[in-house]
Amino acid sequence: MNIGIVGLGLIGGSLGLDILASDQDNYVWGISRNPETCKQAVEIQAVNVASTDITEIPDRILSQTDIIIICTPIAAILPMIAALAPKLNSNVIFTDVGSVKAAIAEPASKICQQFGQRFVGSHPMAGTAFQGILAAERHLFQNRPCVVTPSKSREAVEKVRSLWQSVGMNVYECSPEEHDRAVAMISHLPVIISASLINACQQQEDAIVLKLAQNLASSGFRDTSRVGGGNPELGRLMAEYNQSALLRSLQTYQQSLQEAIALIKNKQWEQLEAWLANTQSERPFYVVEDYVAES
Ligand code: NAP
Repeated sequence: MNIGIVGLGLIGGSLGLDILASDQDNYVWGISRNPETCKQAVEIQAVNVASTDITEIPDRILSQTDIIIICTPIAAILPMIAALAPKLNSNVIFTDVGSVKAAIAEPASKICQQFGQRFVGSHPMAGTAFQGILAAERHLFQNRPCVVTPSKSREAVEKVRSLWQSVGMNVYECSPEEHDRAVAMISHLPVIISASLINACQQQEDAIVLKLAQNLASSGFRDTSRVGGGNPELGRLMAEYNQSALLRSLQTYQQSLQEAIALIKNKQWEQLEAWLANTQSERPFYVVEDYVAES
């Protein structure tokens, strides 16, 4: 396959590494904003060729492109598709990796339609706390879920589905709206909760206790603070582009926190234990691996 990756950061770079390593017939060209990023992407073999300017990618390569994956921050996805679509053949399929889908899928499909091209939204649910091309890593997507949203062209959906499966992902199809409501609960809400945890700890006024807490923080704090310590730009964009679903999730979370506060305040220890027993029994429905590894 001939694949274009636009935005050579953690996701774009990791994807290029796996696509090139998975099949020697694959060819990957890349576009990024910073010339140094393009150079590094070629050096680490995330792409065969890269440039900040699509006109520098030879026509013989562009004309054979099967799929273009937009891996920029969310705000740049639609402008990037609008800029690239006129320069590419009508048989090209566009997809993206943005962590919101409703704000992207419909306008992106409309842009692509003007040029006879097809758009299929994607969201590979994989990441680390790092960003940029030097954070790119092999096997980032292995065994992780990926959402693919519908298109009028079943063939386009199947091609995008196969691409994600080729890097080891488990693909789920759903509407952009269902995607946004689900990720508000399990991805966007945790970022805000985790960031609030770090923020609350920083409000400790006793400098000795604060320093001690920082020294004592171990695996539990590492697990619960990880996503709150990630890329601030991504966090801001997912809140901005998925505002209503995230607010609904935050309000539900606030009610849940109030329940816990009331139980503790009223010394309802048995009820608190029952409340925690319930969350203990529900967690395996969300996080399977821990339990598979232990059993
Ligand atoms: P990242 O590491 O910061 O990479 C984004 C890259 O896009 C940057 O390295 C930058 O490259 C390039 N870029 C930025 N603006 C651009 C523009 N206008 N034109 C061309 N290139 C541009 O971020 P990421 O984590 O890979 O996230 C990228 C996308 O993946 C986002 O849409 C996000 O929603 C989605 N996503 C992220 C995660 C995650 O956990 N990180 C998971 C799933 C999906 P330069 O160095 O050239 O400036």
